[in-house]
Order: sequence, then C-alpha cells, then structure tokens
Amino acid sequence: MKTQTRVVVIGGGIAGCSTLYHLTQEGWTDVVLVERNELTSGTTWHSAAQVTNFGGNQTMVGLKSHSIKLYQELAADADYPVGYHHGDGGIRLANTEEQMQGYRHFASMARGMGVDFEVLDAEECARRHPLISTDNLLGGLWDASDGDIDPAQLCQALARRARKAGAEVYRNTPVTALTQHKDDTWTVHTEHGDIDCEIVVNACGYRVNEVGKMMGVHHPVASMEHQYFLTEDIPAIVESDKRMPLLRCPISDYYCRQEKNGLLVGFYEQDCKTWGMDGIDPNFVNALCPDDLDRVMDVLAGAFERMPALEETGIRAIVNGPITYTIDGAPLVGPIPGKRNAFCIIGLRAGLGEGGGHGLMLAQQIVHGEAEFDTWCIDPRRFTGHTNVELTALKSIEDYQNEFRFHFPHEHRPAGRPAKTTPLTPILAAEGAEFTVVNGWERMDYIKPTPDFHPALNFLFDETFDIVAAEVKNVQENVGLCEVNGFNRFEITGADRHAFLDRMFCGNVTKKDGRVGLGYMLNHHGMVKGEATIANIPASDRGPQRAWFGSAAAAEFHDMDWLQKHLNADEDVQIKSLTNDQTILVLAGPKARKVLEATSRGDWSKEGFKWLSVREAFIGFSPVTVLGVSFSGELAYEIHVPNASLYAVYLALRAAGKEHGLGLFGARAVDSMRMEKGFMHWKADLLTEFDPFETSLDRFIKVEKGDFIGKEALVKRQEAGLTAKLACFKIDATHAPAIPGGSLMLDGKVVGTITSGDYGHRVGMNLAYAFVKPELAAVGTKMELDLLGDMVGAEVIEMSPYDPSYALMRG
Ligand SMILES: Cc1cc2nc3c(=O)[nH]c(=O)nc-3n(C[C@H](O)[C@H](O)[C@H](O)COP(=O)(O)OP(=O)(O)OC[C@H]3O[C@@H](n4cnc5c(N)ncnc54)[C@H](O)[C@@H]3O)c2cc1C
Repeated sequence: MKTQTRVVVIGGGIAGCSTLYHLTQEGWTDVVLVERNELTSGTTWHSAAQVTNFGGNQTMVGLKSHSIKLYQELAADADYPVGYHHGDGGIRLANTEEQMQGYRHFASMARGMGVDFEVLDAEECARRHPLISTDNLLGGLWDASDGDIDPAQLCQALARRARKAGAEVYRNTPVTALTQHKDDTWTVHTEHGDIDCEIVVNACGYRVNEVGKMMGVHHPVASMEHQYFLTEDIPAIVESDKRMPLLRCPISDYYCRQEKNGLLVGFYEQDCKTWGMDGIDPNFVNALCPDDLDRVMDVLAGAFERMPALEETGIRAIVNGPITYTIDGAPLVGPIPGKRNAFCIIGLRAGLGEGGGHGLMLAQQIVHGEAEFDTWCIDPRRFTGHTNVELTALKSIEDYQNEFRFHFPHEHRPAGRPAKTTPLTPILAAEGAEFTVVNGWERMDYIKPTPDFHPALNFLFDETFDIVAAEVKNVQENVGLCEVNGFNRFEITGADRHAFLDRMFCGNVTKKDGRVGLGYMLNHHGMVKGEATIANIPASDRGPQRAWFGSAAAAEFHDMDWLQKHLNADEDVQIKSLTNDQTILVLAGPKARKVLEATSRGDWSKEGFKWLSVREAFIGFSPVTVLGVSFSGELAYEIHVPNASLYAVYLALRAAGKEHGLGLFGARAVDSMRMEKGFMHWKADLLTEFDPFETSLDRFIKVEKGDFIGKEALVKRQEAGLTAKLACFKIDATHAPAIPGGSLMLDGKVVGTITSGDYGHRVGMNLAYAFVKPELAAVGTKMELDLLGDMVGAEVIEMSPYDPSYALMRG
C-alpha cells in the first residue's frame, strides 16, 4: 500500500469509484481509493440502478447526460462490457394539469442542454408502455434515454479504468481515523497503515458521519429505508419483442422497470422510516434491512391499478436498503464547509443515475477549482449552521413521501420549519405574513388578505399577483417596510482590509470611510464567483474602522470559505460573521426619508446623507447602522439592527410611518422591483459559467487596476470575445412568468436560457433575464420563449426599464 499520494478517496461505491476515475481523467493519476470491505458493498450493490436524464435544473440535466454518455462508452468497451439497458425510454406520469405544466417546463429547460424530452398524452403513454391503463391519467414526460445499469459492473469498470491510468484501489481497508496537519495536508489512518495525502474525499454513503466525525464535522445527511420487489416472469413481457419502458409515478409514488422477464417495482410509501439514526452496526456489509411490504400497501394498490398484470404475478424477491438524503434532496458534492483540502460526494439518493456526473463535477472542482457547470445546487456549503441530521431526517421523510412530486415555484413544504427566525417573525405572522424560506430563514413573502389564503401551486401568475402589485404601488408612492433576515454580513477589520478586498474584487470598490460600494468576485477562470456590498464604517464607540461585507443569505459558508482561502498569512485582516446577530429592515419609497427623520436624529437630507453612504445612528433609542442603498429602485435605506433591538426599531418605524402611509412589503415585491432595475440574484443570474462581461457587469470591472483574483483569465477571455450575454427581456405573455431554465428559441434552435422571470408592476411588463448568444443581446432583438410548451414572443429591452437614469434611488 502506498504511504503517500495526492488524493485519498474513502469509499468504494459509485460515488468513490466515479470520483477516482474522473480524477484520473482530469489528469491526476497519483490517487488512491480505500474501501472498508469490497467495492459496492454499501448501498450500491442492491440499487435498482435506473439511469434517467431528468433533472430539475440544467446542471442536474447536464451531469446526468454525462453519466449516460460515459455508461454508453463503458457498455461498448469490448474488454469489460458493462450491462446497460440504455434507451428503453421512461415515462413520468401525471394526472393533474399542474404536473403536465411542470413537464412542459422541464422539456423546455432540458432542450437548452441538448436533451429532448417529449410531453405525451395518456393514450400515447399507454401505446409506449403496453402494460399500463389510462385510468386517472392525463399524460406524461418521455425520456428516450432512460434505462438501467448493472451497478457492480459499473463500479468495477470505473475502478479498472482508474487503475489503468495509475490510480490504486485498496479493498478491505477500513479508514479508522484522519489527522489534518498544520499545512492542511492529511494523514489517513487505516487498518493496514497510514497514507499521507494532500486531499481527502468522503464518499462513504450511509456511513458518511462515521468518517465525518473523524475530521470533526457533522454532515446533514440522513438515511431512509427503501424497498422494491422483483416479480416472476410476466407473459406480456416474455412475448414482447421490445423491453418495457421505465415508469415513475407521482400519483401513487412508485417506479417500475423491466428486470429479466418480469418487473422491478420500487415504492415511496407515506409511512416511511429513517435508518441508522442511532448508529450503524459495523457488520452491516452487503446487507439489507428486513422486508416490510405491509408498510407500502398504500402505494402498492396504485401500482396494481396502473399495471393490472402485477395482480397475476408472483413476487420473486424483496430488497430493502438504506438510501441517503439531504435537506433539499440534492447531494453534497464539493468542498466540506470549514475544512481545507477536504471534499465530499455524499447524500446521493440517485447515485447510479447521477454518479457519473457527480464524479466529474467533484474531480473538476478538486483539480481545477471549479466544474464546467455551476455546481451551487449540489454545493455542500449551500446549507449553513442550522442544518444537522435531525432536521435532515424531517426533510428526508417529506422528500421521500413526495419523491416524484417536484416543487412548484414558491412552494415551501412544511417539514423542518421554522428553522431560522428573528424576533419579528411572530409579529409579521400576526400581521398576516406568508413566508418564503431562504437558507432556512423564514422571510416574509407578502401579506395574505385572509388567514386561510392559499394560492394554487402551479407555474402561472397566481392569486398573489394583485397583492404584490399593491405592495409595490405603496413602495412607489409612499413608503414600505420589509424585513430582510439572514442577509450574510461579515465584519472585516485590520490594517490590510482594503488591500485584501481590492484583490478579491474585479472592480474598484470604495475605500472611503462612510461610503458603500458594490463589487464582484471572480474565480481563477475569470468567472463570476460572488457579489458583495462593502460598507466602510468609521471608527466609533461601537468598534474600530471596519468594512462590512454583505452578500446573499445562502452565501455565508461559501463566501467565508472563499475569503479565508485567499487571506495571506502575513496580512492584518480579521473576518467575523455577524449574519446571525443582525437583521436588515429596508425602508423604501419616496417618503422613506421622512420616516427616517422622524425616528432618528442627524442630518438625513440628500446632501447630509448621500446615496451610497453608511452611518451609525439610533432609531429611537436603539443602535442601528444605516446604508443608503436600494434594491427596489426607489429611495431606500437598509437599516441594520442587532436582533435584540429589532422589535423596538420595528415599532418605532411603524409608528412614525403611519402618517406617511407606511405598509409592509415582502420578498415577492422585492423580486418584481429588482427585475425592473436590472439587479441580479446570486446563483440565479450570477453564475460561475459566465464571466462578468457576459453577465453585463461591465461597469463593475476595472481590468486596468492592479492584480485581482481571476484577472489573468479574464483578460484572456476578453480577448477571445463573449460566448454569451445576459440581457433583459419583455415577454409577450400574460398568463405566466418566464421560468428559470426555460429556452429562448430562434428558427427552431435554442439561443438562450432564462435565469430570472417576474412581472414588473411599475412598468407593466412581464420581465425576464436570460443568457443569449451575444449577437442576439441588442435591444430590440426578437425571439421566442418556450413557456410551458407555448412559443411566446420575447424582445430584448434595456436592463433597467424602470427609472433608467437611477434618479429616484438617489433621492
Ligand atoms: C433499494 C434502492 C434502490 C435504488 N435505486 C436507485 C436507482 O434506481 N437509481 C439510482 O440512481 N439510485 C438508486 N438508489 C440509490 C443509489 O443506490 C445510491 O445513491 C448509491 O448507491 C450511493 O452510492 P455511494 O457510493 O454514495 O454509497 P455506497 O454504495 O454505500 O458506498 C459507500 C462506501 O463507503 C465505504 N465506507 C464506509 N465507511 C468507510 C470507511 N471508514 N473506510 C473505508 N470505506 C468506507 C462503504 O463500505 C461503501 O462501500 C437506490 C437505493 C436503494 C437503497
């Protein structure tokens, strides 16, 4: 066994084998995999191993396409052919119009990744799958590339290819401890000796937290028991000259594929069970949980009704095994929060279908610092401090119960709520607030007209349309108050803070005391990594001179990681998170200044407190920090309040606001208004797949300034020319907003992808942002949007259709 290597991958299921293989493909061949037993002896060996191209966003579709391509290549390898039924086709069923809408959207989205799904009616579903009845069926989504693979052969083939490239695989070698050294390298202790390495990868499936504990972390991953059965031969299948397509059913929560001349039917029962919460028997190897078909009776009946042939067929075997889940259903593939040189590929609940792609995404992150797709949807840092196995178990149960029922826009399911609140949450709830969830934070979405107001879940403009319009109108004409909780805020102190920040941002961010600026961070490939507001707070009795770094609520771990990583050892810079200690109250609208003046001493006039200023002040008797910035496009103030004073400040603002028509507004109104101003959302419009020129951030870039992270690559990209451009669109539809992921089309070809869409109530336009081919980004260019299966007009307009001169926000 080697005693020194570059990367040690721990775990020899699909996650570990795929990572090992892809590391060698990316050029790192001095890599090792250690497995406590035999390869695939965790969950992988008994997987139903279905391989679909279906995904909820373009990254998931893209990485699954990679799996499929790779598996086809492995199946065709004459030296070691892997058993892969590629292209049996698969149908996701639907019995509601809302599900069909979703499928039409997913088809539009996948087309942008070169994947063609078909939306079928019920009769066509039955024509393609001769065993199903059309009772209570509207139609379905057809994935022509659906299939299943032999999981053990797949892992052996990946390990074999990795070995050929120079990697080594040590079986029956349990990892017993991990030691990290001062230089961030690791020693992996195993039962057969130690291996020193630069980087460790946790790919330990349901034993993720045994290995997590060895490095002092707690991964938010929980396991669920999951069952399928295999039937005896079914005559219709024996007689059929082609294989049965796969089925996935959100009506009765089961899936089904052909296995030999019978069927394999798997269930997602409501009465489901977590597994291994109190520890896992060390001898649970190549093992299964006890069968319990009684538990799945609720969903079994639905499967039998859909496929009457099942009623006449015996059950040959039952498989019940543990499957891992995370809080939002997507795995954790990337850097381990708070650790250096440590990565994970865990929480895979569809690891056979996705594993090829996840291995690629992880290997690219390890070797190049970033993957070819934006990997935020699988980034382990997307959940921050509130997540743990307890909360994950609640979300896992809910997710399991809804396995094939995708989330609708604005849908936030009830399990594990409220996770993060402020002292205002119950106050706003009593005012009638409906909440959206942002990284666990309950954030006010809008004020409900009645306590039992429940807008329909679908992809259309819904009953909130007029409510949001009224909230926006009050902000435009009077003044609105909005709580923005969870906003990420770091306090950066030390003599070198400006030099440090200058290196982090691609533009000139102000260094002046009392001033505020917006900046963009790039990765080493010159692509957009992050966005932050910098507020320079002068020294006071509240602290020394300092910069506040403000970014998206979900960015806390991501941005802290990125900043810490680039801090030089000899730099006098300290970074402290204030995210959980403070909350922002936004006061926005033409009368905002009047409310501020009525509650706070000092000169708040246009000249006395200029746009883009920051000042420490009091609202009533409560200490606050006020920033003159606006996301709505109206005159606005961000009032940063320690949580202990939040209620007092709220009461003071509400009381003073009465005579000025102050009303509450929520996140939906904010979104509508920011779309009218050309303001972007991190990880919706700001993606690592595009550079800042492509993202239309030209005014925030100063290539000629001194060195900054990503400069060299950005200059090269600038010379090579744009590959895409973010533009604002007017969508010619009154029934639905543009949905992120939707494809823009011209002459039958995909020419762009929607990143954000919302109605602009002040400009009276259905607005969208999208990345399009650069030659199509000029104002006035017309194309079509595939919106829920209908082609609707889409025309490029100016980025800031509301108050393009930005006069209103300057007050
Ligand atoms: C019944 C069932 C049906 C499924 N059907 C499908 C499907 O149709 N399609 C699909 O895509 N997915 C399916 N899945 C899910 C899929 O099987 C899993 O997502 C996948 O197998 C997980 O792979 P993994 O590599 O993450 O974990 P595992 O396969 O569990 O591998 C982890 C490995 O880490 C090793 N390990 C743990 N601790 C240590 C240690 N200390 N030292 C060294 N090694 C260690 C283990 O021995 C194990 O081999 C199904 C799962 C179940 C249970």
